[in-house]
Amino acid sequence: MSTQPLHFVAPNDFKARARAALDDPDLRANFRGAMDFLQGKRAAQFPDADEREALRDLGEAIRRDALARLPELLAQFESQLVAAGAHVHWAETPNEANEIVLRIAQAHCAKRIVKGKSMASEEIELNDYLAEHGVTCTESDLGEFIVQLAHEKPSHIVMPAIHKTRRDIAQLFEANIPAAAYTEDVDALIQTGRRALRHAFVDADIGLSGVNFAAADTGTLWLVENEGNGRLSTTVPDVHVAIMGIEKVVAKLDYIVPLSSLLTRSATGQAITTYFNLISGPRREGEQDGPREMHVVLLDNGRTQAYADEQLRATLQCIRCGACMNHCPVYTRVGGHAYGTTYPGPIGKIISPHLLGLEATADLPTASSLCGACGEVCPVRIPIPQLLIRLRTEANRAPDEAVAHALRGQGANYSRSEQIVWRFWRGAFAHPRVYRVFRWAATRLAAFAPSQQMGWTQHRTPLKPAARSLADLLRARGQPE
Ligand code: SF4
Repeated sequence: MSTQPLHFVAPNDFKARARAALDDPDLRANFRGAMDFLQGKRAAQFPDADEREALRDLGEAIRRDALARLPELLAQFESQLVAAGAHVHWAETPNEANEIVLRIAQAHCAKRIVKGKSMASEEIELNDYLAEHGVTCTESDLGEFIVQLAHEKPSHIVMPAIHKTRRDIAQLFEANIPAAAYTEDVDALIQTGRRALRHAFVDADIGLSGVNFAAADTGTLWLVENEGNGRLSTTVPDVHVAIMGIEKVVAKLDYIVPLSSLLTRSATGQAITTYFNLISGPRREGEQDGPREMHVVLLDNGRTQAYADEQLRATLQCIRCGACMNHCPVYTRVGGHAYGTTYPGPIGKIISPHLLGLEATADLPTASSLCGACGEVCPVRIPIPQLLIRLRTEANRAPDEAVAHALRGQGANYSRSEQIVWRFWRGAFAHPRVYRVFRWAATRLAAFAPSQQMGWTQHRTPLKPAARSLADLLRARGQPE
């Protein structure tokens, strides 16, 4: 297998990209509005806190159980799929996964692939790889289609084009879709995209999809979507290829029902999405539709590195709902492109180090205020703040420090001067007398500190003045001020 490098952007330019995003008022307004909307929709889906917490307990337990038995469940899932007539492939690296898909395309002389939404395919940069080998991929999810037309990456894992305004989309469609007139009417834009994409399903040689969940007991792929493009991609072309991370499997089909409920409510604030697609093999004898051939590519890409570590294994519980991003005070201000990784926001900060190595991502775990919002909304209770602290420590470890599970790129942010400062701080905290002397000196030096807001705090959204004073509110309740 080739070890040719992928075209990842440099995540360690996070600071420069974040600064540029903060200086773009349109981008900030788009994200602020969209994230407020999504936060409100999620909150409305969980009116009963007890029910929400019970469902989160269940979701966490299902995901932890699946991870505890992952090798066994994957073997069971594979044998069920093979028995149903599907082909199962194992890919350790992005290049292996890309080569598998290319080989399938070449075996069918395929030149056109239509894709449903798949973050795993984004992760391995499949479109670029196939384009280099003469195979064209068309994204059929409307958001993915928009970012593909704009030659961009998704800025959100659930809503890839959330950074675009209707004006941006109108200009893109007018410039790229034949006979598309300029309009900022949202319904008209949706219809234009829909018409443009209809041909892609009919013309495609292969349909490619991601996978939201997979059931080991029945060998079923579970796809969640709102547009129907996932269903068309997986049923109209004669060949269906699904790419899934190895962590997506759970023990039983029944377990996916509560996970789906958590996913849709946390992601888009919907009780249920418009489509659920359950796929358990290619078209069977006597069936009228469905692909004649089906392939499932099981992707590792660093996941076993996380799996080998008891604490970092929790990152594999993720069901890719994006709620942690929607509630993160950093993501909601800088947007997804600032991170430079396939998965932005809090989830990206804890999984990108396994996928890309800590040397390439050492800055990302520091892009957090550790406010804990991500951990509070995560439907499967991934302890994101604790993992961020762990990854910060890993990135700053001395190169010769022995650890149980060395992460790829550990020590990438190691700095001797920083280590000296922390040693001093630890010593001061451990000795009350030293601490008191230090505090006495530090308070007298406060006069030299800058009086104005600096850097990040300069860009924080100012607090809105309260519409009514506290005194007013207390008076209205008949309470003494
Ligand atoms: S870490 Fe939790 S909140 Fe974030 S995308 Fe994954 S499941 Fe959703």
